[in-house]
Amino acid sequence: MSNPSIAIHLPDGSVREVPQGTTPLEIANSISPRLAAASVVARLTPLVTETPKTADGQSAEGEEADSEAAMYAAENAAGPRLVDLTTPLTADTKLELVKENDPDALKVVRHSASHVLATAVLELFPETKLGHGPATDSGFFYDFYREKPFTPEDLAAIEKKMAEVVARDEKFERAYEPREQALAEFEKDGDFMKTHFVTRFTEPGAQVSFYRNGKFVDFCRGPHVPSTGRVKAVKVTKVAGAYWLGDEKNPQLQRIYGTAFFSQKEMDAHFVRLEEAAKRDHRLLGKQLDLFSIQELAGPGLIFWHPKGAIIRKVMEDWMREECLRRGYQLVYTPHVARVALWQTSGHEGFYAANMFTPMELDDAMYRMKPMNCPFHILIYKNSPKSYRDLPARYAELGNVYRYERSGTMHGLLRVRGFTQDDAHIFCMPSQIEGEVEACIDFAEAVLKTFGFNEFKVELSTWDPKDRAHYVGTDENWQLATQSLENVLKAKGIPYKTIPGEAAFYGPKIDVKLVDVLGRLWQLSTVQFDFTLPERFELEYIGEDGARHQPVMVHRALFGSVERFFGVLIEHYAGAFPLWLAPVQVGLVPISEKHMAYAAKVEAELKAAGLRIETDGRNEKMNAKIRDFANQKTPYILVFGDKEEAANSVSVRTRGKGDQGSIPLADFIAKAKALIASQSTEL
Ligand SMILES: [Zn+2]
Ligand SMILES: [Zn+2]
Repeated sequence: MSNPSIAIHLPDGSVREVPQGTTPLEIANSISPRLAAASVVARLTPLVTETPKTADGQSAEGEEADSEAAMYAAENAAGPRLVDLTTPLTADTKLELVKENDPDALKVVRHSASHVLATAVLELFPETKLGHGPATDSGFFYDFYREKPFTPEDLAAIEKKMAEVVARDEKFERAYEPREQALAEFEKDGDFMKTHFVTRFTEPGAQVSFYRNGKFVDFCRGPHVPSTGRVKAVKVTKVAGAYWLGDEKNPQLQRIYGTAFFSQKEMDAHFVRLEEAAKRDHRLLGKQLDLFSIQELAGPGLIFWHPKGAIIRKVMEDWMREECLRRGYQLVYTPHVARVALWQTSGHEGFYAANMFTPMELDDAMYRMKPMNCPFHILIYKNSPKSYRDLPARYAELGNVYRYERSGTMHGLLRVRGFTQDDAHIFCMPSQIEGEVEACIDFAEAVLKTFGFNEFKVELSTWDPKDRAHYVGTDENWQLATQSLENVLKAKGIPYKTIPGEAAFYGPKIDVKLVDVLGRLWQLSTVQFDFTLPERFELEYIGEDGARHQPVMVHRALFGSVERFFGVLIEHYAGAFPLWLAPVQVGLVPISEKHMAYAAKVEAELKAAGLRIETDGRNEKMNAKIRDFANQKTPYILVFGDKEEAANSVSVRTRGKGDQGSIPLADFIAKAKALIASQSTEL
């Protein structure tokens, strides 16, 4: 019997009828052998999609390894998925051949590199037991159990052996084995970690998936690059201890980290970027510039803003509040805690409890710290009757929220347990949605531009109408909301990526990710529709028709978190803040003690002009004083002695430009004031 044929939809819109069992590689070869050689894996998207949903709109922050579950769990046939080029196709599907320049391909080559690493380790140290080896955002790791720790010499030998494995260009081949047989073999060999993974991530009676390259075999669901030779640049970076399953009563594993790329050139660029990023690390600069700290005694993930960080925050917040008022928002303040009853009404108690601080008991009830400000703003809206004339109502707050992050996951200012959202909630009529979204996008652009970011990326997360049960709100509302978001982005000519099925259950959203000076993406602003909270809290307004209607609610945050935005700012500017943000804008250096009187006069004039200054009156050499201000990345250093005093001038040293010579004090003040007023990033 010949195989029935299936329809393969290609990205150019063409459809190929091929026999069932045809592989992506065969299809690629039939198009062009060149395309086949350039492809790494294939991306299949079922023609009928059903995408799993996240329970809330919170996006995970920070860098995380692919979870074990993602590595081993049964393949989810619903969404787009990556498969080996040699996977037989069994049903009608969209097919995309993924080449090396696709970001997904990088993860595949990195995971393949982890197999190359394990291959090398077993060849050199056959007694080693294998854990697992996922790709991470910056590379890969593999967990090994061996009584003797790997020495630096061992790592060098492993790296050399890996080069051999790559040079052998072994094919990655997939095979299946009955689960019980696989378990018996792993148990016999004392492979306790593999036994655990197979037991945990496969079902009894199942066929278990393996990948072989040469003599090396690993329990894995793939996908992989076609052969080890495709791992063209690979490097072992470090080894660290890790307890098996994170429990210190368990044996200690050795986690070998590495990274891999499709070319040496990309790898070199990666290490240059890492070096540059390390110099800009906000935790390092935070200490060096005395901006903030995290105190062991107070607990992890809680930020202490020191005077120099606090003044920057004040400038950021002042700007934000003024802009809010200018743009028709009303400022509100709300408490940090509320009765659990409120969180039950809002749904947080049901959907979000794992991210909240545990409840505390007060005399009359249980209370919780707030993880979000929304329910509070809703209570303000609800406090008095509203008519269509009151809408849109825009409430803005720099609200402190507290969220439970697992210990060990905190990271400087970027991932914390207490932070400040520049949060606003807009209550409006459906007919006002588009105008409000447009205003939010304008505002987000203004934030990015003002704080010195020229590049950003926009994502539109929409629902999946085929998966109706996962969403609240009417079809009409969803269409209207999604359409308004799209209309605004199109009208403003903003390029964006639509991510279907990525909306939260309560509404579609726009995410704005800024691109920093090193090209890194940071998720900041979000504009999010919500059909559920107005319903849960029974919000209403009296329409023009005299009847009661339910308003639409928009959540929006532009900095996102003030702490996180500050962390990004520190790294973006490497601590050399623009004049308007710099904690000390001008450093004064009197050449000797006899110029202290003139220093007082200069100081008074600069202060009167609203500048933030610091005078170094120590009995130190002029050059030492200049160096200290320069180390603090002070934008301007003014030096003066007899000559300057006589001429009522100052000698100006500009950050990044050096000695600019003497100018009249009044001219300097006028220039500095103009730069500050225009929030200039230039000096
Ligand atoms: Zn694998
Ligand atoms: Zn909200």
